[in-house]
Amino acid sequence: MAPQREWLERDFYKDLGVASDASSEEIKKAYRKLARELHPDANPGDTKAEERFKRVSEAHSVLSDADKRKEYDETRAMFAGGRFRGGGNGFPGGFPGGGGGTRYSTDSGADFNIGDLFGGGGGESAGGFGDLFEGLFNRGGAGGGRGTSTATRPRRGNDLETETTLTFTDAALGTTVPLRVTSPAPCTTCHGSGAKPGTSPRVCPNCNGSGFVSRNQGAFGFSEPCQDCQGTGSRIDDPCSDCDGSGVKVRARTINVRIPAGVEDGQRIRLAGQGEAGRRGAPSGDLYVVVHVTPDRVFTRNGHDLRVQLPVSISELVLGATVSVPTLDGSVGVKIPPNTTDGRTLRVRGRGVPKRAGGAGDLLVTVKVEVPRKLDDAAVEAMKAYAEAERAGGFDPRAGWGR
Ligand SMILES: [Zn+2]
Ligand SMILES: [Zn+2]
Repeated sequence: MAPQREWLERDFYKDLGVASDASSEEIKKAYRKLARELHPDANPGDTKAEERFKRVSEAHSVLSDADKRKEYDETRAMFAGGRFRGGGNGFPGGFPGGGGGTRYSTDSGADFNIGDLFGGGGGESAGGFGDLFEGLFNRGGAGGGRGTSTATRPRRGNDLETETTLTFTDAALGTTVPLRVTSPAPCTTCHGSGAKPGTSPRVCPNCNGSGFVSRNQGAFGFSEPCQDCQGTGSRIDDPCSDCDGSGVKVRARTINVRIPAGVEDGQRIRLAGQGEAGRRGAPSGDLYVVVHVTPDRVFTRNGHDLRVQLPVSISELVLGATVSVPTLDGSVGVKIPPNTTDGRTLRVRGRGVPKRAGGAGDLLVTVKVEVPRKLDDAAVEAMKAYAEAERAGGFDPRAGWGR
């Protein structure tokens, strides 16, 4: 693994909004704050927040590790001040194969262009693996030959996105769903190494496995991807014939995805390491599952609260009653007090949607009067008698109403 090539185009300090001499405490604090704000759970469907969340997580993973941070600082220092211009969003795949290249500026203000220096501009990227150094690796295969596989680099696999549709109840209570995914996966013949079975990649002698060699270019000293191993840090003498040494093959697979309780329509679930396999044993990307939830006949949701409309009769509202009301996993007896107003909402604590931290939201039961369309003679007589008694008792439904 040689992460330097990504480090060059990233400003982890800027991602976290801290100074480059920030203490580890400051870094930790900045990360916690941003992670809370940008967490996908807090921003369902917001891809911008999600992209920033990823960047912030990556920045933190490097800067919170003293050794990695030192290496990062040194790598960037080597790149002559390393102010990255152009590229905008930068990561991943900011560098379009060949073409213009990426400009860095030096402290003296002079721009130089990676493409110019390294003769970049090969153009053909290997199946969508375009990134900052793509041009370099396609440069005439210098030193490569057939002995080493072409254009392979230890880069993390791409992220994948897929979707699944859940019933209202499954989404609320959580479930496990099998997902069929067809994507680059580790080659089963060579187990992802890219080397023919029985052989193994060896450490590149030119760069001692780092994937980078130091080089001086005029006033600048910086490191450059090793040409012998194309930056992978290892050499494969006998490439696996099934995957041509890439260590990756497109394969259909079924993943059982555990959906946590309480997911909402449109939410994205991240499955770390379940995305496309990285080439030659590099880490896999992540799999994002977009969840769709079908509406329910009875329930609606408001966060963790579950809402249900309960049909009742006039007599149940007037006299009071205990009525069985469905919940996500059974039913509950709800007591309607005497003289309950139509449209009133009764709260049953803890019978809503389960919360991740434990406990559950509430069940909110709204009563709604159903007026009988047809009454038999006895009921009509009783109703008339009731109306009589109501008037005699002084009840006026329109008292204080109107003008
Ligand atoms: Zn293979
Ligand atoms: Zn090498």
